[in-house]
Amino acid sequence: MITNNKSAAVVNYAPEKGSVELREITIPEIGEEEVLLQVENVGVCGSDLHQWTADHSWPVNYPVVLGHEFCGRIVELGRRVTGWSLGERVVSETAAVIDPNNPMSRAGLYNLDPTRKGFGYGVNGAMTKYVKVPARCLHRIPDHLPFEQACLTEPSCVAYNAVVVNSRLKPGDRVVVIGPGTIGILCAAMARLNGAEVAVVGLEGDQKRLETAKQYGCDAIIKDASEWANSHDGLGADLVIDAAGASATLKLAMDWVRPNGQITKVGWGPQPCGFSLDQLVQKNVTLQGSFSHNWPIWEKVIALLGSGTLDVKPIIGGVWPIEAWYEAFEKMHHGEVIKSVLKP
Ligand SMILES: [Zn+2]
Repeated sequence: MITNNKSAAVVNYAPEKGSVELREITIPEIGEEEVLLQVENVGVCGSDLHQWTADHSWPVNYPVVLGHEFCGRIVELGRRVTGWSLGERVVSETAAVIDPNNPMSRAGLYNLDPTRKGFGYGVNGAMTKYVKVPARCLHRIPDHLPFEQACLTEPSCVAYNAVVVNSRLKPGDRVVVIGPGTIGILCAAMARLNGAEVAVVGLEGDQKRLETAKQYGCDAIIKDASEWANSHDGLGADLVIDAAGASATLKLAMDWVRPNGQITKVGWGPQPCGFSLDQLVQKNVTLQGSFSHNWPIWEKVIALLGSGTLDVKPIIGGVWPIEAWYEAFEKMHHGEVIKSVLKP
């Protein structure tokens, strides 16, 4: 039973840089096909930081509660919700609003429905005590999977989609991952699970995050991966995953990929490229974008987390109370931790 109908929330209230603050918000009222979740943990995403620093490339519905990487317990059920019970431990997908009749949704690819609105930018997210969620977004999590790990299901799904679904990858392949953030490290971990040899590339300031990559059996490289990429037969890496979020890294990816190889771009960057794409043509390379995830991916990732096949513990840099959101954001922004987790 909810007694106090207000709770603290991390709100992104305007498009200007730094427009994030803690506000008291009213507990949402759920619709017939929604549930109310009591949020147990919510991860801070690179995209939350981008909205905070105002260098994001997507439209935001201000003011909005941040947070789309979350899990919790069901505390209220909408009238037409079936198959779910109070108290169940769940994670939620991020596509809060979709058009079920959009041809992409009909194909099961509702993540690619252009009218889709996600938690934390399109509708209120989970950096608060209670969030309303359409029941179709829910997935059960095993009892033994701690909430603070379960909230990393979402970024793990991003990595699964990029590496397993959208990339051609075979055991023994050489894979370069650019960017040692959460998505980069999780992409590297997924590639390792698929039997690849993996190197994660970062800058000098990324030493600490690159150490984590080594825990997943990856090589860690500062700046230039050409030698590593060429060390088998001199031709380059089978797959380069660009998880850096800067347009310029596409140039590096084109340099390091082998002829007939693939570049999968999962990092965002609003800057224009400013270089020739001729290498793509000359090397006969596939350039593949990868965005978000859908229902079957969530089920696979929960299985991987539940069995311990994918261990996200090395990525978690700490758990902060929601009131300390600023410190959690700062630590991640400066690369002191890979993933900050909040506890509302
Ligand atoms: Zn995210």
